[in-house]
Amino acid sequence: MTGRKRLRLFVLERANRCCEYCRTPIEYFPLEHIVSRKLGGSDDLDNLACACLRCNLAKGALISGLDEDGNEVRLFNPRTQQWGEHFRMAHGRIEGLTGTGRVTVKVLNVNTPERLEERQQ
Ligand SMILES: [Zn+2]
Repeated sequence: MTGRKRLRLFVLERANRCCEYCRTPIEYFPLEHIVSRKLGGSDDLDNLACACLRCNLAKGALISGLDEDGNEVRLFNPRTQQWGEHFRMAHGRIEGLTGTGRVTVKVLNVNTPERLEERQQ
């Protein structure tokens, strides 16, 4: 196994084979840089996450979003924050419990009908 493959497997297993943002079980995933390389983020394990394709695409190079009052809030960081402190899952729907949670739900667009269906499977 190459170093890159081993790294991917480690990140996947560390996340229990689920997206670390929306909790959807995944097989294939793009390695997600929490702080993108574009913004100077590293390839270190503490900057890598396991994210589904939809979260990865929606997040892109973003590290923050605007809350309902127009304040800039950092997106959820699965390495330094606990999912359960920022989100709650109710019938497949993800609710943000904090500013970080609410902004992440909005930016990653995790509650579209098709995504709700995927999670409930
Ligand atoms: Zn996801």
